[in-house]
Amino acid sequence: MNEKIRLINDDGLRVDGRKPDELRPIKIEAGVLDNADGSAYVEWGNNKVIAAVYGPREVQPKYLQNSAKAIVQVNYNMAAFSGDDRIRPGPNRRATEISKITAEALENVILTNQFPRTSIDVFIEILEADAGTRCAGLTAASVAVADAGIPMIDLVPSCAAGKADDQVVLDVGKLEDNIGQADLPVAYVPRTGEIVLLQMDGHLTRDEFEKALNMAIEACKDIHALQQEALKSRYSPQKEGGDAE
Ligand code: ADP
Repeated sequence: MNEKIRLINDDGLRVDGRKPDELRPIKIEAGVLDNADGSAYVEWGNNKVIAAVYGPREVQPKYLQNSAKAIVQVNYNMAAFSGDDRIRPGPNRRATEISKITAEALENVILTNQFPRTSIDVFIEILEADAGTRCAGLTAASVAVADAGIPMIDLVPSCAAGKADDQVVLDVGKLEDNIGQADLPVAYVPRTGEIVLLQMDGHLTRDEFEKALNMAIEACKDIHALQQEALKSRYSPQKEGGDAE
């Protein structure tokens, strides 16, 4: 007989040992590429993501140019080696969707009206994927935009919450994504309190939705602090081996 896989055990812990409201470990580094105007690297659990930003620069193709503001073009791509099996390179519906929602989230914070007729081009490469890559990608992308010196209202931290074994959980993992009940990616702008990305896959009751949304927003505030730290340590690195006095 087929035994149901349990996503939460008798002690209330998840398959990777996390509590329901616990994030996977997150590391963020700003300015990792010499040849881009701005860049960032994010390790989030087993996800590994790099973001590179070019611009503001001339719009390609030219007919997309907007005389009132800069356009934001995002290219999200999963590397062929980023999953268990080889992933077919090139655009597909999912990559197009994630590129679009990421661009829309960034357009909400970048001061695009300061750079009419230009393009801000953002490349997100997923080196290793383990669920939550759109959130890790957007988290990396906004640090890369700031690293490029492009003025923004705020950074955009992003995190998903969801539902597994009838419980609301934070930062949905791969197995939870595959066999869980819901996934709710959120991006939140701490300075304005705006939600600039909200998607939902699966079903949540109204109460569960509110709980999941609040959990994701609280996590975004913690991720925001990590983003700021990454930029601070790039631009004002702590002196090593300083005097103890
Ligand atoms: P997200 O990565 O934002 O959670 P999805 O929910 O679409 O986006 O995907 C969940 C996970 O499924 C991905 O992080 C990745 O690990 C895996 N995945 C998605 N698309 C593919 C693919 N084409 N091939 C292999 N694995 C994939």
